Amino acid sequence: MGYAIAEAAIAQKHQVTLISGPSAIPPPRGAKMISITTADELYRAVHRSLRQCDLLIMCAAVSDYRPASVSGRKMKKRKTGFTLKLIPTRDILASLPKRRRYLVIGFAAETHDLKIHAVKKLGAKNCDAIVANDVSGSETGMESDENEVTIFFRDGQNKKISRAPKKIIAGELVKIIAKMWEKSLTKKSW
Ligand code: C5P
Repeated sequence: MGYAIAEAAIAQKHQVTLISGPSAIPPPRGAKMISITTADELYRAVHRSLRQCDLLIMCAAVSDYRPASVSGRKMKKRKTGFTLKLIPTRDILASLPKRRRYLVIGFAAETHDLKIHAVKKLGAKNCDAIVANDVSGSETGMESDENEVTIFFRDGQNKKISRAPKKIIAGELVKIIAKMWEKSLTKKSW
């Protein structure tokens, strides 16, 4: 979805920085690419990029946990099972300053109670809007070329974009978010 949004934004004449983990998808033409491999690298890359940012769209499915320690050497096979200790990664959205000059759009992939969880994350992660999608089936979401999303806004309103190829969803999303940004310019005394 991130690559589709970046392409749609470039097509709509926006300047795009795409921060991405390893992917087989070719980088969108015209995007400034920043490559990362860990949640910590993503945290640092996002914070570094905020200075030139009007709008941050966080659609990465960031891992919530990472191994507590990393072995520099190959771990030898054991005869018994073992427990891998995991510690939480930093939540990038929740780490952003409350007072800011850019809009923040989060994503919420949910398997149940989509609206309840998405609206909770919108507040908890202090986003300006959150894009929710149901990933309980195989027809939309992560593994599919199609998606269906609902955008929840801070004023309690929401807007559904019905099932369509991710490219179409991305184009619609960029239009809605760009309008939101234009509106925010008149509301805030930046
Ligand atoms: O994983 P979760 O559903 O809570 O993610 C919701 C939003 O939070 C997404 O926009 C995701 O990119 C962001 N996130 C983050 N840092 C994390 C985990 C998730 O910014 N460590």
